[in-house]
Amino acid sequence: MSQADRSIPFRQRADRAMQDVFLQEALTIATTKFIGLRREAFAGFPEGEGLRDAAREIKEATLQHLDRYLEQLVENVERLGGRVHYATTPEEARAIILDIARQAGARIAVKSKSMATEEIHLNEALEAAGITPVETDLGEYIIQLAHERPSHIIAPAIHKTKGQIADLFTKELGRTVAADPEALTKLARGELRAKFLEADLGITGANFAVADTGTVVLVTNEGNGRMVTSLPRVHVAVMGVEKVVPSLTDLMVFLAILAKSATGQKLSVYTTLVQGPRRAGELEGPEEFHLVLLDNGRIAQLAGPLREALYCLRCGACLNVCPVYRQIGGHAYGHTYPGPIGILLTAMLNGPGAVKDLAHASSLCGACADACPVRIDIPRMLIELRREVDEKRIAPWTERIVFKAFGWLLTRPALYRLAASVGRLLQRPFVRDGAIRSLPLFGDWTRTRDLPMVARRTFRERWRNLELEPRR
Ligand code: SF4
Repeated sequence: MSQADRSIPFRQRADRAMQDVFLQEALTIATTKFIGLRREAFAGFPEGEGLRDAAREIKEATLQHLDRYLEQLVENVERLGGRVHYATTPEEARAIILDIARQAGARIAVKSKSMATEEIHLNEALEAAGITPVETDLGEYIIQLAHERPSHIIAPAIHKTKGQIADLFTKELGRTVAADPEALTKLARGELRAKFLEADLGITGANFAVADTGTVVLVTNEGNGRMVTSLPRVHVAVMGVEKVVPSLTDLMVFLAILAKSATGQKLSVYTTLVQGPRRAGELEGPEEFHLVLLDNGRIAQLAGPLREALYCLRCGACLNVCPVYRQIGGHAYGHTYPGPIGILLTAMLNGPGAVKDLAHASSLCGACADACPVRIDIPRMLIELRREVDEKRIAPWTERIVFKAFGWLLTRPALYRLAASVGRLLQRPFVRDGAIRSLPLFGDWTRTRDLPMVARRTFRERWRNLELEPRR
């Protein structure tokens, strides 16, 4: 499966992904490489652990005074000649950007990689308004040609092999090309150069925005971000409100750990600091600069159970180490943000009902929290989400009844002992080699896991007879 289809239940999407041999190959190669690079980067960086703690503290301190930092950011962006817009919903954000595009008379909009614009489904809105969006990050360009959505936060085309990309380019661009990264990149670069020169509008996301200087910061590896911010007449940056940081000193802390967590680089190749539009006497830069601050459920979570998810730097490290993501890839999650943090962000943006299945797509092993540069406790929030899904009665009724009955039984020891004795008898037809291999109504569980059989003697029975057991 290469693309999310939310009409299909999550389990079926996950099943399909696990049977897709190309996807499995691409995921294994890419995530294993990312994990190794991240480990090496932090192994040679003794200050890393302290900086992760510092980054977490900065995030928390910023959220405590988010209103103040946002006001300061707005003031400074406007002082530099930029315009700031506030969007509560994706609809508002799209309307603001379309209005800017119309006023600029834009026919082509070049874009650099931005999950915020994916979140608001901007490309579809631009197309419907007769404006052609052109993704200029190589991974995003590939998935735009394939009419797909990103399957990883920082590596949108992670699910594709070199061979698949070569076939795609040959089909969509009408030019035969070898399955060689250099040849593929050269072909894409040639196609995109012309678009940069034609475009009136450049659209980017923002990794950070510095409140006390009004600086919008982009962290990229391909240089396309700089073309998008400097060649078109108008630049629009779209960012979630939580991306604000107080000062350039704070920014340095994040830059020191972001690239190491994402790709194992000391720093990303390009760190672009945008300060408003071109000023008098400057040779390059846009005539207009707009910053769109996007809420879309974030502000509500300042006092909500998912508050910590607002620390997220979108580095993707938690996806690479997640045993579920590594098997099913990003499209199976069915929403803009995949992986463990994606489940939390989807709940934040779309409500807990949107993740009633996804909340269980985690082994709660804790690898995500270990890898996260700002130590977000993702497993804790996933458990909270599961509780919320249960309390709001969103989970399937079978699941609710089974867990309710189990909870009821656990608080009645005599009945529990009786149930264990009955279970011991009833399990017999289903036990093979010491485990229950299949069980009516629990087929999904036993299909991929062993369900341990009820022990021949319970712990209490063994305890009672302890003295009688031979010593080993
Ligand atoms: S939750 Fe942490 S590891 Fe995952 S993308 Fe966000 S910052 Fe990176």
